Order: sequence, then structure tokens, then C-alpha cells
Amino acid sequence: MELSIVVPIYNEEENVAALYESIRDALARTSLEYETIFVDDGSSDSSFTLLKGIAAQDQRVKLLRFRRNFGQTAAMAAGFDAATGAVIIPMDGDLQNDPADIPRLLAKLHEGYDVVSGWRKERKDTFITRKIPSLLANSLISRLTGVHLHDYGCTLKAYRREVLDGINLYGEMHRFVPALASQVGAKVTELPVNHRPRLYGTSKYGISRTLRVVLDLMTVKFLMAYSTKPIQLFGKWGIYTLLAGCLSGGTTLYMKIFENTSMNRNPLLILTAFLLFMGVQFIVLGLLGELNARTYFESQGKPIYVIRDRVNLG
Ligand code: UDP
Ligand code: MG
Repeated sequence: MELSIVVPIYNEEENVAALYESIRDALARTSLEYETIFVDDGSSDSSFTLLKGIAAQDQRVKLLRFRRNFGQTAAMAAGFDAATGAVIIPMDGDLQNDPADIPRLLAKLHEGYDVVSGWRKERKDTFITRKIPSLLANSLISRLTGVHLHDYGCTLKAYRREVLDGINLYGEMHRFVPALASQVGAKVTELPVNHRPRLYGTSKYGISRTLRVVLDLMTVKFLMAYSTKPIQLFGKWGIYTLLAGCLSGGTTLYMKIFENTSMNRNPLLILTAFLLFMGVQFIVLGLLGELNARTYFESQGKPIYVIRDRVNLG
């Protein structure tokens, strides 16, 4: 299999048929061997029934259905797990992404990249509640992860499958895959893609999502730091702070003994106590982080979704 397209679906009954057709038509113009994996994230409308009908007629359409709504990231993760393609392309199920961009993403990937991230240069969403928060979130993510993209939130991306192996997604983390991948040496680039307004159904997200994204950014920053071991990260600052505390303590003693300075209410004394205390705190934090990192890595078996039905999948 050359290509797997992964589409999270949550109450998109007005969109699934048109989406299926536009993917099929866009790829008919290529000779690619591909599959489309729709992941129904606990829809309460007729999305699943409609998709099942489509899958009955086209074996290239595969279908997973969750027991309940687990969120877009979990739906994408399930699709990635089931995908057999050498290249994996996730896209939204509401026709806001354009399947006609798929061949362009692939061409860019074949220039020698491991990740091509879509950039909704002309984003067709509301300005105040969507575009402004995104702008802020994007610049923050760019600064904190050191991977500079304009549009982390665009679902439409192309990955070589090796890149996704070993990246465990949860929360809002699907948007951080390029950053996590780049950290293990993947070559990441971006490509402007078409973006269309949502014509049918409603967006499942508002401004609260940006807050969740920012909080998850902290986790990602932390995970990226884990590759250098928490004790190394915090311990280094702990040792610097302890050294500063000793220096400050030494000065205090020297002043007291040799210069006979009164230490009564002297700020140096407070500084010394503060630095020694902080130094110990940092080191303990590093140890806790280390323990936590270990728990994190050892608990990877935990599923972030539960599957109810599978169609056209072994
Ligand atoms: N989605 C999902 N589970 C959810 C919320 C959304 O699978 O809990 C899907 C949704 O059906 C769509 C994609 O994720 O295919 C993006 O959602 P939406 O269009 O609502 O987000 P927006 O484009 O407004 O950011
Ligand atoms: Mg949308």
C-alpha cells in the first residue's frame, strides 16, 4: 500500500459522501494504490451508517467506529495505527481540506522530506474566535518547540509512516507531531494548501480549544525535554543554584568573621537560604521528573480509544 488517508469523523453526515467522492476523484487521476480510513469518533448522527454503505461498495474504504467520542487526536491515532500505507495523510472530514492537495503533498514529500505540513495560508474560519487565537498559539508553539511552521493546527499533513511509529498521541497532540518528529531527526517542511469554509455541519471547537492546545504544548515541551533526561535538565539548574548558594553563604561567613559585619536582618542571609533551598528543590524536581518519565514510558500500553466496529479491516 502506497498511501493511507485518515479522516476523523464526528457528526459529519452532510459531508461524508461528498468527501468520499472528492478523495476518490482526486486519486483517480494518479495511479496510487491507496486506502481511506474513516474513523467515526462516536457520532450520534447517521455518519457511520452512510460510511458503512460506502465501504460496502469500495474495498479501499476502511472504517473504524469508537464506542464513544474520544476526540479528534484519538481518532487520528486509531487511523494511524490501522494504516498500512508507506505514506499517511490525515485530513478533516468536513471538506475544509481539499483532497486535490494530496498529490502536491506527496510530490513535496518525495523531494526528500519526512513530514510535509499543510499551511492554510488563506484560512476560511472566523477571525476573532479562530484565526487570532491560532496566530498566537502558532507563534508560541514555534518559539517553544524550535520547529518553525506557520500553521500547526492544519490537519492536512503528509507523513512517512516511520515518523509516526513511536509517537504516542493524546490530548491535542496531533498538531505537535512535526515538532516531536523533528526532534528524532525527521526532515520537516510546509506547503501552502487550499482551505475552504465549512459548508455543512458545525465546527466542534471554539476558543476553549486554544487553551487546551497551549496546555498540551507544555506537555510536549516536557516530552521533548525528556529526551535529555529530566534529572539532567533540572539537576543542572539545581547544581548551579546550590553553587550560587554556597558562594553567597561563603561571602556571608567571610563578612561575619573577617569584617565583623552584622548579619542581623542582612539580605545576604536570606539570599543564601533561598538559593540553597531552591537548589535542593530543583534537584528533587529532576528526580520526580525522572520517575515520571519512566512511568510515562512504561505505561505506553494504555489505549486512548476503544473500538466498537471495524469494516474492511482485518
Ligand atoms: N472531530 C472528531 N472528534 C471530535 C471533534 C472533531 O473526530 O471530537 C473531527 C471532525 O469531524 C472533523 C475534524 O475532526 O473531521 C475537525 O473538526 P472541526 O471541523 O469541527 O474543527 P475545525 O475545522 O473547526 O478546527
Ligand atoms: Mg473544520
